[in-house]
Amino acid sequence: MTDAAPASPPVSPPAVHAADASATTLSFDRLPLAPSALANLRQLGYLQMTPIQAASLPPALAGQDLIAQAKTGSGKTAAFALSLLARLNPRRFAVQALVLCPTRELADQVTGEIRRLARGAENIKVLTLCGGSTMRPQISSLEHGAHVVVGTPGRILDHLQRASLDLSALDTLVLDEADRMLDMGFYDDIATVAKACPKTRQTLLFSATYPEGIARLSQAFLRQPQRITLPEQHEAGKIRQRFYEVDADRKLAAVGLLLHHYRPVSTLAFCNTRQQCRDLLQQLRAEGFVALALHGEMEQRERDQVLVQFANRSCSVLVATDVAARGLDIDQLEAVINVDVTPDTEVHVHRIGRTGRVDQAGWAFSLVSGNQMARVDNIEKALGHEIEWHTLGELQKPPGKSRPPLLPPMATLQILGGRKDKIRPGDVLGALTGEAGFSKEQVGKINVTDTTTYVAVERGIAREAVRKLAAGTLKGKRVKVHLLQDSAG
Ligand code: ADP
Ligand code: MG
Repeated sequence: MTDAAPASPPVSPPAVHAADASATTLSFDRLPLAPSALANLRQLGYLQMTPIQAASLPPALAGQDLIAQAKTGSGKTAAFALSLLARLNPRRFAVQALVLCPTRELADQVTGEIRRLARGAENIKVLTLCGGSTMRPQISSLEHGAHVVVGTPGRILDHLQRASLDLSALDTLVLDEADRMLDMGFYDDIATVAKACPKTRQTLLFSATYPEGIARLSQAFLRQPQRITLPEQHEAGKIRQRFYEVDADRKLAAVGLLLHHYRPVSTLAFCNTRQQCRDLLQQLRAEGFVALALHGEMEQRERDQVLVQFANRSCSVLVATDVAARGLDIDQLEAVINVDVTPDTEVHVHRIGRTGRVDQAGWAFSLVSGNQMARVDNIEKALGHEIEWHTLGELQKPPGKSRPPLLPPMATLQILGGRKDKIRPGDVLGALTGEAGFSKEQVGKINVTDTTTYVAVERGIAREAVRKLAAGTLKGKRVKVHLLQDSAG
C-alpha cells in the first residue's frame, strides 16, 4: 500500500478559480448533507457557504481529491470537516478521518470546529494528538476508539510507529495548512503518514499559499486532484497601501514614526528574518511601545500568551516572521507594516490581507530600501495599478508634551487557575463587577485555559484590579493574580 514516488518534476493541475463556481447558490441546502447537519449549521449561524466552501464542498462530497487554496479566515475548516463528517459511519469504531495540522494551537481549533459541526450527528469522537502532551493518555484514548483524529505530523508518526494508531480503515486524509507544514520541515513525516493510509482514501489538501512543495506533495499523494483557488481580491479602498523609501539602517526607527503618526490600536509588523524581529522588538520597547514577538521556536504556552495579549488589545505591536504568523486569525487589525518588502508578491498580498477585514478599513505600510525596488515593481504589476509613494518627512514627530505616547487600551491580568479549577469566564467577570466594583465596560476578553485565565481590563484600572482580585475569592478560593509584564507597565 505505498504511494508511488514522483517520477517526473511536479506539474500543477490547472486551477479552477472559485469565482467561476459562482453559478451555484451559496445555500448549504444545495449540498447532499443530512437534514440534521443542515439544521446544526443554521444553529451555528452558518447561513451561507463562504466562497471556498461553495467551490470545494460539491467535489469533496462527491469523493474527489482536492487542492484548495484560500486565505486565512475564509472558512477552510468547515470545507473539509463537513465533507469528512458526511462520509463517516458513527457505528463503525475505527479512525475514518485524519487531519494533519502544523501546530497544537491549530489542531485544537480544528478539533473544536469539527466537534461543533458534528453536533447534528450521533456520538462522534474526535481526538487531538499533538506533541507536548504525554503519550499514555493519548494511547488509552485511542484504545477507547475515535472516529476522527486531528494532530501534528510528528506525534501521529510516533503513534504509527508504536502501532497505537491504526489507519487501515481511513476514508479521508486532510492536510490542513499544508504550506506551513512544509515550511516547518514536515514533508517526510507527512509522506510517511500518507503511505500508512489506504490507497483508496480521499485526500484533501488545504493551504493559504501555493509554494512549489505543494505541487510535489500533491503529485505524490493525491489522485487526480481538482485544484481550487480563491484569488485574493482585497476590496478596493479597504486596505490603504503606502510605500516609503527608507535606508536600510533607518527602518526600525521608521516603524516607530509610523506608529506615532497613525496611532493604530493593533499592528502586525512583518520581518523577513528572526534577527530583525529581535532587533525591532528591542527598539520598539526602548521607545516605550508595548510590543511582543512571535517566533518559531517559542513554547506553545508562551505563544498562547502572546496571542491572547494581542487579540485582547493589550499589546500594540506584534512582531513576526511570515512562518510564525501563518494561520493567525485576528480581527480588528488596524495596520500591517512590512519592515522589509518580501520578494514573493503572493506573500505580500497575503500579509496585507490581514488588515482591512470585515467592515473596517486598514493600513498597509511597506518600508522599501533601495535594493528592494524590483520587488515593488512586481507588486505594482500584480496589483495592476500604480502604488502610492510617501516620505517619512510627512510623518509627525514623535510625542512631545502635547502628544501622549501610543499605548494599548487594555492590560492583561493572569490568574493562576483555569478550567481544571472549574473557573469560567462568568466567574471572573462576576468577581470584577461584583465585590471589586468595576463596570462591565472596563472588562475585555476573558480567556480560560486548562490551568490559567487571562482577563483584559482597561489599562488604567489594571493594578487596582490585580489588588482586588487577589484580595477576594474566585469560586470560593483565593487565587494568585498578576499583571502580565509589558514595558510600558
Ligand atoms: P481558515 O481555515 O480558512 O483560516 P476557518 O475555518 O478558521 O478559516 O474559519 C474562520 C471563521 O469563520 C471561523 O470562526 C468559522 O467558525 C467561521 N465560518 C466558517 N464558515 C462559515 C460560514 N459558512 N458562515 C459563517 N461563519 C463561518
Ligand atoms: Mg485553517
